Amino acid sequence: MVSFEEARSIILSNVNACGVERVHLQDAVGRILAEDASAPWDMPLWDNSAMDGYAVRSADCAEIPCKLKVTGFLPAGVRADGVTVEAGCAVRIMTGAPTPKGCDAVVPVEETDDGQDLVTLNETVVCGQHIRLNGEDVRAGVVFVRAGTLIRPPEVNMLATFGMALVPVFRRPVVAILSTGDELIELGRTPGPGEIVNSNILSLAAAVQETGAIPRIIGIARDNLESHREMLREGLKADALITSAGVSAGDCDFVRDVLDELGASQLFWKVGVKPGGPTAFALHGTTPIFSLPGNPVSTMITFEEFARPALLKMMGHSHVLRPLFKAVLSEDIKKKPGKIQIVRIRLERENGRWLASSAGNQQTAILRTMVDATALAILPAESTRFKAGEEVDVHFYGSHIDLI
Ligand code: AMP
Ligand code: MG
Repeated sequence: MVSFEEARSIILSNVNACGVERVHLQDAVGRILAEDASAPWDMPLWDNSAMDGYAVRSADCAEIPCKLKVTGFLPAGVRADGVTVEAGCAVRIMTGAPTPKGCDAVVPVEETDDGQDLVTLNETVVCGQHIRLNGEDVRAGVVFVRAGTLIRPPEVNMLATFGMALVPVFRRPVVAILSTGDELIELGRTPGPGEIVNSNILSLAAAVQETGAIPRIIGIARDNLESHREMLREGLKADALITSAGVSAGDCDFVRDVLDELGASQLFWKVGVKPGGPTAFALHGTTPIFSLPGNPVSTMITFEEFARPALLKMMGHSHVLRPLFKAVLSEDIKKKPGKIQIVRIRLERENGRWLASSAGNQQTAILRTMVDATALAILPAESTRFKAGEEVDVHFYGSHIDLI
């Protein structure tokens, strides 16, 4: 048995970013930039006005109020090549328009009488005011978004500003998902005696999709070697493989044996964590294989703690673990020693602190409390008693954290 931390570090040291592809900027949000992006030109390209107002020479405006003759008009989108602000004059200018020759300040229209032929300035003018300087945001040649950065709307804006229509990003891995068990029936049928709906395959596909990777549902491996061979062989064609159930020590648990037969090498089996004890991890070439236990709660929690960080790493993310923070327990919790326990909780904000209360029955077969949980508490292996008022490590669960 490996510890929870060892399991994670074995997984993360054995997966790498997938290859690079170029996508349209419109499709790049949420992806990780795979190459440094450097500016092909200065931004701004030319000095320009930050306000609607008047381009002036600050030396003309030493005494306030001051009157200037308005000799021109520069709206946004024009060129200012032929325009000059002469002594004692002003040029009416709109935000974003290039500042004309001679001008060293822009006076906002609100600080004037808004005159058309003659304008009166009512406030002191400082040399340089309200002029955006050429290159002050980004200089040509400078890297403005580094490889490895998550592309959010601000990055999209800057990539667009510099004309990058196609963006190099890390590829999204195709993740094969299969479940095992003779008791499983497909969604759409009503279970009879001894049957349960193959719910894990859909919840795993949903979880894969939430990471940004591409789920590929392979189907159900029945509880015999031949069916396992066929399904696992198919699953190994993807960039990563996730299996549900059939990984314990039962008579019908064939996943690990068949993976071994197909040439995968197991890096661990059994982890010091509850739920999720029977989790196994193997590599087939460089393809990671996550064999997750079948109880729906265990499947989801082991996906969350082991598979999700790996898939994020494969997509180029550098922050692959959810941030842990402290929450105060609102009730006592007991646990057995020797294993990390992951507890389904609800979080509430109280007097500037997070308060954690149990989401209810913590048995692995109880799905309801997984639905009710908004976060997970990670209780250390050695401790056995946690008192109300004590602080524990927690992290959010799921991407829609505004549920709390
Ligand atoms: P196993 O590891 O095969 O013994 O399965 C452990 C438990 O998980 C059993 O109660 C199964 O019925 C349940 N289980 C297995 N596979 C699935 C699945 N695909 N969807 C929902 N429950 C499952
Ligand atoms: Mg089974």
